[in-house]
Amino acid sequence: MKRIKIIDLFRPEHLGKEVCVMGWVRTRRGNKHVQFVALNDGSTVKNVQIVFDMAQFTDEQLKPITTGSAIKVDGLLVESMGKGQSVEIQARTLEVFGTADPESYPLQKKGHTLEFLREKAHLRPRTNTFGAILRVRSALAFAIHKFFQERGFFYLNTPLITASDCEGAGAMFQVTTLDLNNLPKNEEGKVDYSADFFGKPTALTVSGQLEGELGATALGAIYTFGPTFRAENSNTPRHLSEFWMIEPEVAFFDITDNMDLAEDFIKYCIKYALDNCRDDIDFLAEHYDNELVERLKFVLDNEFVRLSYTEGVKILEESKHKFEFPVYWGADLQSEHERYLVEEHFKKPVILTDYPKEIKAFYMKLNEDNKTVRAMDVLFPKIGEIIGGSEREENFDKLSARIEELDIPMKDMWWYLDTRRFGTVPHAGFGLGFERLVLFVTGMTNIRDVIPFPRTPNNAEF
Ligand code: ATP
Ligand code: MN
Repeated sequence: MKRIKIIDLFRPEHLGKEVCVMGWVRTRRGNKHVQFVALNDGSTVKNVQIVFDMAQFTDEQLKPITTGSAIKVDGLLVESMGKGQSVEIQARTLEVFGTADPESYPLQKKGHTLEFLREKAHLRPRTNTFGAILRVRSALAFAIHKFFQERGFFYLNTPLITASDCEGAGAMFQVTTLDLNNLPKNEEGKVDYSADFFGKPTALTVSGQLEGELGATALGAIYTFGPTFRAENSNTPRHLSEFWMIEPEVAFFDITDNMDLAEDFIKYCIKYALDNCRDDIDFLAEHYDNELVERLKFVLDNEFVRLSYTEGVKILEESKHKFEFPVYWGADLQSEHERYLVEEHFKKPVILTDYPKEIKAFYMKLNEDNKTVRAMDVLFPKIGEIIGGSEREENFDKLSARIEELDIPMKDMWWYLDTRRFGTVPHAGFGLGFERLVLFVTGMTNIRDVIPFPRTPNNAEF
């Protein structure tokens, strides 16, 4: 008989028919007359109940059915009398694929802490919680492609290994095939990278934006969606060393177009998850965050507040709130400041614009005041910065001057400046940290819990 996924069992056409299911046992309970097994196959957060009439099965047959074991069951799908489920399977045949010794299988009881499960990241996808998170994550990835593809954006794959050491978004992981115990040296006694794999120093990318701009100034509108790497030693609940980023970049866009795109995009993704992952979101809301659904709907129903960094700082300076980090014009805002604006002051997502040029990247377009740049950060409740973007400096002279001013090593970046040398156009774009979006939509509080196998300082297990 052909296997039916548990998610499809709940459709009416299977009722009263013989079905075949395969999956992992969550629990078994019962007495000597009847045994109940809750089975999950990963297709949904819902388990299906399988009823074993012990007049037809022996204790010996059911003995291997312990939490975590994998089985196949054929049987009749009937309406359930018990509460908590609509249908159940009356087992006819049982096959055990793999046992799970109760002495050593770590996921015995419900309600393991998220910290405990992080140590068991190889098995945690089998829990209801991580099943739900990973399904939401998958749906959001699909929504992202759908959003951009429906709007005529092209998916551009930018390199993960890069030789430009001036991307500026964060510390980089070096990539080398040199023997670290026996490094070739040049006359000055420095490492001779001409002997390295690429003939020069290379690293894992911190952002695909610079290459994204090459795509946008040719195809008109592109987006990237891929892994990025940052070697900062920031042990926070919002930072990973390896995370996924979505970076749209659009020719002929100014900062207002960019803000509109960011707001539409993020709302589209949230709505997609609410429309398509309701069981999983409801499960997460019930177990971790009672206000989750309300918060998601609230974002959909409200326009984001748009205000300048200068106005934002003024609000922060005038507030009575005690911040850990000082706030003044020119300071880089901390998560506590961002969250104060969003959660306490406006009680809405906020797009902060026109930051001091000193605290933003070299490629952002300079405003007429010569002090601020056309940057935009989207700030979210519980998260702080979820998107960072800007209108780009398209003027060759201004960009070159800024690069010189900052002493940025541009020898490997001639190709980037060529976009401003040949047929330069106004353009803009932004980067969304995928895991921060998944955090928001799932209501989780630690970014390590929304990626299957997190990479953080001192942690590259699994
Ligand atoms: P933050 O100030 O939070 O460290 P950033 O300003 O360094 O972020 P950007 O370089 O603007 O980040 O990157 C664009 C987006 O990527 C951010 O808005 C955020 O959503 C996400 N992001 C940045 N760093 C990380 C990280 N280490 N782990 C996960 N997501 C990140
Ligand atoms: Mn940023």
